[in-house]
Amino acid sequence: MLKAQKVRLYPNKEQRAMISSQIGGARYVYNRALALRKYAYTRFGIKIGKFTLINHITKLKKRDKTSWLKEIDSQALQQSVANMDKAYQHFFKGGGYPKFKSRHHPRQSYQYPQRVKIEGNKVFLSKVGWVRCKGLRKEFVGKIKTVTVSYEAYQYHASILVDSKGQEVVINHNSQAVGIDVGVSLVVADSNGKRVKPLDLVRELSKLRTKAQQLSRKKRNSNNRAKAKAKLAKQDLRVANMRKDFLHRLSKSYSENQTVVVEDLKIKNMTKATKGTVEKPVKNASAKRGLNRAITQQSWGLFFELLDYKLSERGGRLIKVDPKFTSQTCHECGHISKENRRSQDKFVCTSCGHTANADINAAKNILARGIHGNNASLKIAV
Ligand SMILES: [Zn+2]
Repeated sequence: MLKAQKVRLYPNKEQRAMISSQIGGARYVYNRALALRKYAYTRFGIKIGKFTLINHITKLKKRDKTSWLKEIDSQALQQSVANMDKAYQHFFKGGGYPKFKSRHHPRQSYQYPQRVKIEGNKVFLSKVGWVRCKGLRKEFVGKIKTVTVSYEAYQYHASILVDSKGQEVVINHNSQAVGIDVGVSLVVADSNGKRVKPLDLVRELSKLRTKAQQLSRKKRNSNNRAKAKAKLAKQDLRVANMRKDFLHRLSKSYSENQTVVVEDLKIKNMTKATKGTVEKPVKNASAKRGLNRAITQQSWGLFFELLDYKLSERGGRLIKVDPKFTSQTCHECGHISKENRRSQDKFVCTSCGHTANADINAAKNILARGIHGNNASLKIAV
């Protein structure tokens, strides 16, 4: 099982310069190898293999013009070519054509295959040295596969991929099953009647908006503009990390079940008010709401991915069901009606009078559907 963990790096001034060189070298080699392969193929119809390309780099180091490549970790360079090759394989399987790497991309990175030492709160990166880091988890065991060093929003990170093969995995033998209803905002309700308090990002998002406004007021090419840009990027990353962290914690808590049932978001169209609420259109707010929904849907996509991974690690499983009518069906009598949904959170069955929290009622229907199949009536009580 491959496990990744991301740590923040705090390189000193010299190390920052070295990391920057490694990134530049890896990018140069990637682009050069891609160009060469492209040229050989379009011009002569020949496919140049990965090893030929790697040999080519060794030759580049001997040429005067490109002798600066000697300063770059040779394994990182080889890895860069290997990654280009991987992108090519992906293209042959129907993916997009590999793109050249730009020095202007907001995220810059390079990768080490293995050969990275970790001691205490320091990581040893070849050609850079021992770099101070934060966020290393204690339970860190296994063989390091790759270490990706990245620079984004004025921060350095290392993503360490570890192969924990052969390690004991805690298998979940309980038979607990739960259905989860995810909302148009970052809210969760489950079939056990639990509602998870949403992540409150209002303050952070308003800070983000202020920083974006401040940037827009700065003069072009000014020093202050660069500073404002850095502040905005930092805040943007902060919000993204808070969201990720929330989803990690949420998925971890649900991974203790044997079976988790959720709605298939590919079918569910979250951009429409599917929850039966009457929404008053607010001027200028609709665009913002649309964006919020897109972010929410993306977040749920990530949540399900994390949940699936954490469940399978412990022998559990994630089931995705058709979300049709799950929010309009009475869990007690099976009556389906739009009228059942009185408001965003209140469910009152027009047939049997059953009253419940609307999201919890939906979560119970989701669980029933996951256990009895997509075509089964939602009537069956669980
Ligand atoms: Zn009913």
